[in-house]
Amino acid sequence: MCPPIKEFIMKKTIIFFFVATIFYSCNITSEQSTLALIDSLGSKYNTLKDYPVIDVHQHLYNDVTYWGGPQASKNLNSPTTAMLHYKRLVEVMKENNVVLGLPSTRMETCEYYFNTYPENRQLFYYGLDFWYAPDAVCQPYVANKLDSLVKVNAINVIGELFGVYYGKSHDDSCYQSLYAIADKYNIPVSIHTGVIPDNWLKNFPNYSIELANPASLRPILKKWSNINFNAMHSGLSYSDKYNFENNMIDMLLTFDNLYCDIGAACWMPETQLKTEKFILSAIEKGLEDRILFGSDQMVWPDAVSVGIKFIKDANFLTLAQKKKILYRNAAQFLRLDKEQIKRHFLNSKI
Ligand SMILES: [Zn+2]
Repeated sequence: MCPPIKEFIMKKTIIFFFVATIFYSCNITSEQSTLALIDSLGSKYNTLKDYPVIDVHQHLYNDVTYWGGPQASKNLNSPTTAMLHYKRLVEVMKENNVVLGLPSTRMETCEYYFNTYPENRQLFYYGLDFWYAPDAVCQPYVANKLDSLVKVNAINVIGELFGVYYGKSHDDSCYQSLYAIADKYNIPVSIHTGVIPDNWLKNFPNYSIELANPASLRPILKKWSNINFNAMHSGLSYSDKYNFENNMIDMLLTFDNLYCDIGAACWMPETQLKTEKFILSAIEKGLEDRILFGSDQMVWPDAVSVGIKFIKDANFLTLAQKKKILYRNAAQFLRLDKEQIKRHFLNSKI
């Protein structure tokens, strides 16, 4: 290579790294100042009574997908229709000062709720799922339609993705266009992990134990490093046959773009102890900034209250750790801007 060309390339390389470093440090600084704002606003709360909460794991339905009503057993009421379920969820959120919820549902249902209830647009980030329609993700129209809905804020999250239920790899080619949209619009992706109860498992013959392990997220976390991912349920399983807690912690330690929500394990009595142990192990490894509150209320909206109470009453957590799990970590995961954060705290009653 002749010297002038070599010198030219070297100069260009130095300029590139200089600009990249400035860009990177600006992002870090902006994230730090957002967290500082939350800490400053949050420091005024000596109790959690009126502290704002973000619930990153909820579900909504339409008349076809809804499976609630009196037949849905649990010690919680289940509204009789999808519409009543939506209305009760809004009430429960207001009762618990949940300032933002991330319910997932089918694409056309996200659009329906977004258009039908404009008064609730600040309350929800609707998320796209393919519950009981696993092949829909491969339909060519999905990416275009999704792009148009994300553009107008009718969808703000991809997931809960249920590939695990159908043995569809997280890195499946059908998911790539969804990840590309998340990357383009700077929105997060939430993926189901962990193993469901045995009585459910028998309804899903292709359920993949391997994909339920958070370690299986590795390829997409590497490939899509600008996207924040949520390993829903933190890889926690209902059976003691499967223990992915250490894998979950390893993945969080390896990938900065990974978070984990505690899901229904925080309100189901049979899994509350397991949840407590997991949270404590994660905190011990310095991961208290990556645990999210997600109720996974399914067809029982009142489960949101039980899940929040589990965190608020936890004698194994400090007040600062509870504030992180209930709001701060989710704000970071969602890359909320300062105006949204100020509004959330302004709407809270101190
Ligand atoms: Zn869920």
